[in-house]
Amino acid sequence: MSAIIPMKDIVSLCKRRGFIFPASDIYGGVNGFWDYGPLGTELKNNIRDLWWKSMVITPPLGLDGAPLQIVGVDTAIIQNPTLWKASGHVDGFSDPMLDCRETKLRYREDKLIVLKSKDGQGHALVFHEDAEQDTIDARLKKLARGKSSADFETVSLPEIDLSEYSNLIGPDTKKAGTLTEPKEFNLMLHTYLGAAAGEDNKAYLRPETCGSIFTNFKNIVDTSRVRIPFGIAQIGKSFRNEVTPRNFIFRSREFEQMEMQFFCDPKDDIKGWFDLWKNYRKEWWLSIGLSDENLNFHEHTQDDLAHYAKEGVGAYDIEYKYPFIAPGFDELEGIHDRSQFDLSQHEKFSSKKMQYQNLQTNEWYTPYVLETSAGLTRGVLAVLCEAYTIDENRPSGMYMNCHPSIAPKKAAILPLVAKDGQPEIAQKLYMEMREHMPVDLDIKQNIGKRYARQDEIGTPFCITIDPQTREDQTVTIRERNTMAQKRVHLDQVLGYVQGNLKYS
Ligand code: ATP
Repeated sequence: MSAIIPMKDIVSLCKRRGFIFPASDIYGGVNGFWDYGPLGTELKNNIRDLWWKSMVITPPLGLDGAPLQIVGVDTAIIQNPTLWKASGHVDGFSDPMLDCRETKLRYREDKLIVLKSKDGQGHALVFHEDAEQDTIDARLKKLARGKSSADFETVSLPEIDLSEYSNLIGPDTKKAGTLTEPKEFNLMLHTYLGAAAGEDNKAYLRPETCGSIFTNFKNIVDTSRVRIPFGIAQIGKSFRNEVTPRNFIFRSREFEQMEMQFFCDPKDDIKGWFDLWKNYRKEWWLSIGLSDENLNFHEHTQDDLAHYAKEGVGAYDIEYKYPFIAPGFDELEGIHDRSQFDLSQHEKFSSKKMQYQNLQTNEWYTPYVLETSAGLTRGVLAVLCEAYTIDENRPSGMYMNCHPSIAPKKAAILPLVAKDGQPEIAQKLYMEMREHMPVDLDIKQNIGKRYARQDEIGTPFCITIDPQTREDQTVTIRERNTMAQKRVHLDQVLGYVQGNLKYS
């Protein structure tokens, strides 16, 4: 079992090394928004490109063993508002939330837990579901007069009757009875198009990327050669006015999704397709370096399912053991049965036929849809958490064990000293290697500090030019995880790095 790394260490590394910064940092940030720095951008793009490759360029074989067809789209963030009426988001996309009258803070009801005294005496204390044990113990000590966590039972806030609210002490106050009743809060962010700000020109920032995949279904069938079963994939930004953005980039208000809608015949083996996608998607997360012990399938209960999915094969979340919830898990990707719901709704709202004709029987039908809906942003967080490895034996005290396929830089070229012809050799090697992979050329500073920097950004190989290089044309190649060093001839450096990047 690897150690659980505190989130604050991950956030601080991200800022220190230029992975992720708070958006508008110099103005104090803006809650729920993040900017990606040079290395974060590379890391995110690598994950994005590998997803595209595995879903669109080399999708899996279908149930009959033939290669599947998945095509891509890149659609507008703002669509006709009717799209979001048809999808149910305008009326139904909400979370129950409550406020604290004292602190004016706002909370999502289903993310709060309550510690109730087993003897029924005294106040009950409310916490965020991911509160750390130290925080819980400290508040109990202050507010529960000598009782310890063993004297309490934990229930979720939705299980608490409204009549008991006057007895609750909210997560950020010392007083009981300051929490309001939960109310539904719509998560759609909106804007106004054109000069006037009124209901007539209100438009929404998309809350998920799949909406416009459905509205393009007919365009794609009519203009490309795809035939059912096939999929449409899209990567892009989505926006949700989350009540409590938290846990770094895990729950933000602007984030990226990687979604694929798979269209098949309702008479097909839906369970077979669903299992295929569920397993393929988990395998993919493993392939970019997440470990099996940190991944989990969570099956939605009947109560959690969208009304249209109740009759189908259900829904599973692929969950990751993020440090803020460990040893628990939280969502990374959803694999959903969306049945014929979306296409039927769009047919109803647009009065355009959204059906598909079976070319053998001439029969028309509304295709059945299975969805894989992954968070690119949450994927970045998961790989950062997975990679962070403590190692007291190196100056940085840690290194990022990024899978080579996603590492922002694959190699760094480091002349030992900035003289004696070493920088020139380094630059020549750099010019050769950069044609094949992202490489860093770092000339100044002491070599220990430069190794430490590369360890912290997860570079798999450091190539050092030293006095011997001028004599025999060899360099040392230092492997990140083992710190083992090997002498390799300059002519073979590129081949060596390319060959060894393929390890899994
Ligand atoms: P949650 O229960 O965590 O709010 P969800 O079930 O609403 O998530 P979906 O609507 O299924 O999420 O969205 C698909 C994916 O999009 C999620 O698995 C997640 O990776 C990502 N995602 C959703 N909301 C956010 C957010 N606020 N910030 C970052 N990623 C998000």
